[in-house]
Amino acid sequence: MRQAGRIVSELLKLMEKEAKPGVKTITLDKIAEDFIRSQGALPAFKGYYGFPASICASVNEEVVHGIPGQKILKDGDVIGIDVGVKLDGYFSDAARTFGIGVVDAESRKLMEVTRAAMNEGIRQAVIGNHVSDISWAVQSYAEKNGLSVVRQYVGHGIGRNLHEDPQVPNFGKPHQGPKLVEGMALAIEPMLNLGTADVEVLKDGWTVVTKDGKRSGHFEQTIFVGKNQAEVVTA
Ligand code: MG
Repeated sequence: MRQAGRIVSELLKLMEKEAKPGVKTITLDKIAEDFIRSQGALPAFKGYYGFPASICASVNEEVVHGIPGQKILKDGDVIGIDVGVKLDGYFSDAARTFGIGVVDAESRKLMEVTRAAMNEGIRQAVIGNHVSDISWAVQSYAEKNGLSVVRQYVGHGIGRNLHEDPQVPNFGKPHQGPKLVEGMALAIEPMLNLGTADVEVLKDGWTVVTKDGKRSGHFEQTIFVGKNQAEVVTA
């Protein structure tokens, strides 16, 4: 998983470099797939429940599961890129949202708060805590900073499968759900919105968008629960 995580992390750095005004999201997908295969790994999303690409590319009001295509990135957009990699039977999964060219202050805040909310969650991923301690840390940080928390999609266990138990919601009261034990592998992934928390799925059957058309941010890391702190596998 550490090796898969390194590939994911390097790929997301590459995506941030390649995602510029004028670039199509399908081009990013091609670069991503080539990179993953060049590392001897497999793109975990491709074909997963029929998903047609190696990355999810979610622009502006798209929350998650955006399908790469002919959409051309423009100055001021934000793009969330989510990627999973399978290496020797093990998975790692991560996402980042970044700005294209110059983005407005509200979008910068969206990205900063979503990343920080994820990190607040990761801080709770220590032995003896419960899953919902992560959830509460994410939700309280997000709401304190004026963002809303998407409820319909959640983080998850990960390991020999891309998605495993337990679910890791980004909302909920503390001290509930399964207890965290050392070495447990989790994908912690807040999806936070500037406006309403409500989302819907487009007719393509995949792309999740905000109901009010306002922007959404998404950050994700795969982590191992630790004694005093989590180990971030996809840092
Ligand atoms: Mg995930």
